[in-house]
This record gives sequence, C-alpha cells and structure tokens, in this order.
Amino acid sequence: MKRLRGFDYHEPVSLAEATRILVAAGDGARVLAGGTDLVVDMKTGQMRPSTVVNLKRIPGLTGIEAVADGTRIGALTKVTAVETSSLVQDRHPGLAQAASILASPPVRALATIGGNVGRASPASDLGPALIVHQAIATIEGRDGGRDELVEELYVEPGATTLASSDIITSLFLPDPPPGFGSAHVKLGKRGSGTDIALAGASASVVIGERGEIADCRIALASLGPTPFRAVATEEMLRAEMPTEAVLGAAAESAGGEAQPISDMRASASYRVTLARVLTLRALRGAVRSAGAEVVA
Ligand SMILES: Cc1cc2nc3c(=O)[nH]c(=O)nc-3n(C[C@H](O)[C@H](O)[C@H](O)COP(=O)(O)OP(=O)(O)OC[C@H]3O[C@@H](n4cnc5c(N)ncnc54)[C@H](O)[C@@H]3O)c2cc1C
Repeated sequence: MKRLRGFDYHEPVSLAEATRILVAAGDGARVLAGGTDLVVDMKTGQMRPSTVVNLKRIPGLTGIEAVADGTRIGALTKVTAVETSSLVQDRHPGLAQAASILASPPVRALATIGGNVGRASPASDLGPALIVHQAIATIEGRDGGRDELVEELYVEPGATTLASSDIITSLFLPDPPPGFGSAHVKLGKRGSGTDIALAGASASVVIGERGEIADCRIALASLGPTPFRAVATEEMLRAEMPTEAVLGAAAESAGGEAQPISDMRASASYRVTLARVLTLRALRGAVRSAGAEVVA
C-alpha cells in the first residue's frame, strides 16, 4: 500500500453544506460513505481526490421504510441492514439475497447501498438486483434534486452519469405487483459465493393468471462493462410458461447477450458459460419466489 496523498477533508452536517463544498471543490472532489471502495482506492493510488466529503453527519440518509407505493432506502444504509430487513426480504427478495452475498460480514457492516451504486463496479452485486426491482435513485446536486433509474446511471467501469457534486440520497423500490418474485445469484473465485463475482445474475418475474411469465427482468454482473439488462432474453420469456425448456432457452440467450472480458480471474468463454448457468438459476429462483413451479 502506498501512503495516502494529502487532501481536504470535510464532515458537513446538511446536504446544502455538502453540496456547497462539493461544487466549490470541482472535479477533484469525492463523497465518502462506508469507504470500503474509496479508501482502498486512495491507498493504492487509483483515486487521488483533492477533497473528501464524508456524508456520515448528514441526517436522514440512513434507514429503510415503507412509503407510498414502495420502499425507500437511505443511501448511507449499510448492506447488513439491507440484508436483514424483513421489509426488503418480503417485498424485494432478490435485493436481500444480493446483500447477503456481498463480500464478508465485516465489509457488509461498513459498505453502503449508495456507495455500491456510486462505485459502478461491473461486478456489483446490488446493481443488478436494484435494476430488476426497477429502483430509482434520488440525487441531490448543484441544481437541486432529481430522480433517475439506477440502470441509467451506469456508464462504464467505475463511472456513472453523476457529477462530482451529486449525492445519492436514497433508493426507491416500487411495490412489486401480485405474482412478483425475484432472485440473485453469483459465483466468486473461491466458490464461496461471498467474494467478488466472476459473474452474477439477478432476475425478477411477474407470474400472470394463467401461470405464464407476464413480465420479467434479467440483469447481469461481471459480464459487461457495467451491470446491464439482457433485454432480448427478457423479451423472449414474456407470455411463455415457466418450463425448464423455456428457462433453458432463455439461459442460452443470456449467454449470447453477455460481453465479458478475460482477466486474471476468469476467461471470457468461462464467463459466458457462467452467464448461462447463473441466469437459469436466477430465473428458477425468481419463479419459485413468486410462489410458482418450474414445470419439467
Ligand atoms: C474485501 C472487499 C470485498 C468486496 N466484495 C464485494 C462484493 O462481493 N460485491 C460487491 O458488490 N462489492 C464488493 N466490494 C465493494 C464495496 O464493498 C461495495 O461497492 C460497497 O457497497 C461500497 O460502499 P461504500 O459505502 O463503502 O462506498 P465508498 O467506498 O464510500 O464509495 C464508493 C464510491 O461511491 C461514491 N459514493 C459513495 N456514496 C455515495 C453517494 N451517496 N452518492 C454518490 N456517490 C457516492 C464514492 O465517492 C466512491 O466513488 C468489496 C470491497 C472490499 C474491500
């Protein structure tokens, strides 16, 4: 580890104060949440912010609550709290699963949901799960507040559409419709399921009155430059019955939509195989979570 380079450090007590500091500091500023990514990247020299704005003293940025039409999760809410929330487990099970296999308990006790989105890692666990739950990020910036779909925030590895003065304040997950189910699965290097994903898959389904897949979403991790939806595969599943043959064909299709790289952790061709296997598991899990059966 290299020594940390000097930087200005602030602990504002309001969003307005944080925004003022971030705007004045310009592009070299970074907000700090749990620090599990940012502090590591600063120590390795990958990130050299001139100004660090710690959000921890700003009230109202933590907590999980049922609101009209959905669930609101403060951006500074720890991953452990997402994992163990009965509200999230009941209404958004795929997100609770993703939180439960993110790193190890000590990391989950520090890491925040907003920091996971802000980091924009292609290997993110929470990103795909938030995407299949149609999560919306509420963002405070120099021109006031705005809402954006999480799936539209991702640009490239480590980069989002957020300006350096933007702060994600919360994530909103709409209430699922009747017949909804979701699941998240991944495979890590050691097969423990709790290290960074070689590949990951989230799926959500809405089972219709005839038992058909009335709607579905699939989002993949470590299979492209950002977490992304397998849109063509989703389309081929709509209105189909959830049989093993249909889900198997969808898994093949998701393998075709993956655009993985080869790196020191896995080859691209192995990751394509994982895309198929994990999409199949995520779809089976989502169908079962909806209270339906996968027909042989
Ligand atoms: C050993 C280890 C294992 C890990 N394993 C996994 C894993 O399995 N799966 C996984 O998904 N991640 C993993 N991570 C990555 C990390 O823990 C998560 O991405 C975590 O959720 C980041 O949250 P944080 O609060 O620590 O973010 P920070 O490190 O504080 O910030 C990360 C980035 O997001 C920005 N940011 C933070 N909060 C906000 C906000 N509210 N608004 C706007 N921008 C913001 C920061 O400026 C920074 O650029 C691992 C990390 C470590 C150290």
